[in-house]
Amino acid sequence: MLLASIRRWWSADRRAEGAKRRRVLVTLMVATLAAICVVAILVMAEARRDVGRSVAVSAGNLAAAVAHDVDRNIELLDLSLQAAAKGWSNPDIQSLAAPLRKMVLFDSSASAEDIGPVFILDERGSVQAVSKMEVAIGMNFADRDYFRVHANTNAIGLFVSKPFISRISGNWQVALSRRIDKPDGSFAGVVATSLQLAYLSKLYKGLDLGAEGTITLFRMDGRVITREPYVENDIRRSLGGTDAFNRIRPLRSGSFEGESPVDGARRIISFHRVGNLPLIQDVEVSVDQAYADWLRRAAITGGALFSLCLSSLVLMLMLDVELTKRVAVEKALERLATTDGLTGLPNRRRFGEALQMEWTRASDTGSPLSLLMIDADNFKAYNDLYGHPAGDSLLQSFARCLTDNARRIGDLACRYGGEEFAVLLADTDAAGALRVAETIRGEIVGLAHDHPGTASRLATVSIGVATARPGPGQTGERLLLAADAALYRAKAAGRNCCRVAAMVNEELVARGSRRVA
Ligand code: GH3
Ligand code: MG
Ligand code: MG
Repeated sequence: MLLASIRRWWSADRRAEGAKRRRVLVTLMVATLAAICVVAILVMAEARRDVGRSVAVSAGNLAAAVAHDVDRNIELLDLSLQAAAKGWSNPDIQSLAAPLRKMVLFDSSASAEDIGPVFILDERGSVQAVSKMEVAIGMNFADRDYFRVHANTNAIGLFVSKPFISRISGNWQVALSRRIDKPDGSFAGVVATSLQLAYLSKLYKGLDLGAEGTITLFRMDGRVITREPYVENDIRRSLGGTDAFNRIRPLRSGSFEGESPVDGARRIISFHRVGNLPLIQDVEVSVDQAYADWLRRAAITGGALFSLCLSSLVLMLMLDVELTKRVAVEKALERLATTDGLTGLPNRRRFGEALQMEWTRASDTGSPLSLLMIDADNFKAYNDLYGHPAGDSLLQSFARCLTDNARRIGDLACRYGGEEFAVLLADTDAAGALRVAETIRGEIVGLAHDHPGTASRLATVSIGVATARPGPGQTGERLLLAADAALYRAKAAGRNCCRVAAMVNEELVARGSRRVA
């Protein structure tokens, strides 16, 4: 179907320049292939967006689940702190003997390997009570940030400190603390406990985020609490001021692709606030890893598409070569069908087409059209005398002479049949046509071929000249008849002369001239 359309288009356009045809065809082909490539790229880009969305959703869910877990763990510790603070504010409990007071104050304290003791500091930062023996009564923590924060303001609630190295265990940890108020609302001290970063690491350890994925917990001020994989230098850093952190900070949760606030690597970043705490749980998946499968599929699809495009182009070029050959053969056949074999002049068929074409053109432009009908004189006798091959060669020299005298655009010299020729002269009036006819007749005499059978004893021709101003609704046939009639008159007048039949509308007016060599 497609091939048939291409062939139809090709045949219809076969007179156009080969290069132009090829350009159009190649442009169409390239445009089609480019359109296919654009569609493929759009589809692949959409697939990439889908992958990004799905990874972001998974990472977002993970961030939410881990944030919930962290929140639950800290909430349990906070309950212990609140219970201890409430007890310490009660004068009855404060007045109890130390062992009993410890039982009452720290009864609900969590005890796990990575959770430190709950302890109460007075307003000067000295330890007044402690749940486990690791912290000695009287130790002073007035230099710790959590103590200073609570001493300065009463609006903090639960405070999560910067990570620091414990003076007792030597491990990295964060302190969780609450302020204790006196009955008048003034600062009475702090209740605090500590959580080793190892505890959070254990929460994160089981999560599979791929080779380059990271999970990070940081405070709202950008201070990193911990991250997995664990890099100690990151624990000392603040992310405040990075582009990614500025996007994360105002939101409760979200996802985007960008440079990690932790190490600057390109990742899909999902984050979730940890309950109502000033903490953000961040989960990051490496972009390279997230899109690795997509990239492999895109490479396979792209490769296949490239091969298809290449083979289509090769096929197109082969088709082009075949069609070009075919057109060349068609042109050669057409030339053969419209060319006279002996003289190389256009034949009668071609003459008929040209006469109609020029007639129509002259009718459109209102210009005159002339026709010379030329016939060799006593040619039968020439054949009889010199033989047919000599006759052929004489016809060939007549043909050369005609071609030489019909060189303008719109002129056409043809072999009409036998020893008869026709010369079509576009945009030529009767006087001009007669001039050309006389030139031809004179040049043929000038060839000086002996012909004992004519009056001049040279090979000569007789010429009938007709001129018309074609009008609408007429055909070239009348010009042909008029030229033929004029030729008949030239023969009747003794040969080797021209006769003119001027066509004025419907009426033919014959005039004549006779030149003898
Ligand atoms: P007229 O002056 O009245 O035209 O006389 P004529 O002898 O030319 O006319 P006639 O029609 O009697 O003869 C035409 C001759 O032309 C006869 C034919 O053998 C010859 N002829 C036609 N075609 C060819 C050709 O291709 N080669 C040769 N050698 N002769 C041809
Ligand atoms: Mg003749
Ligand atoms: Mg004849």
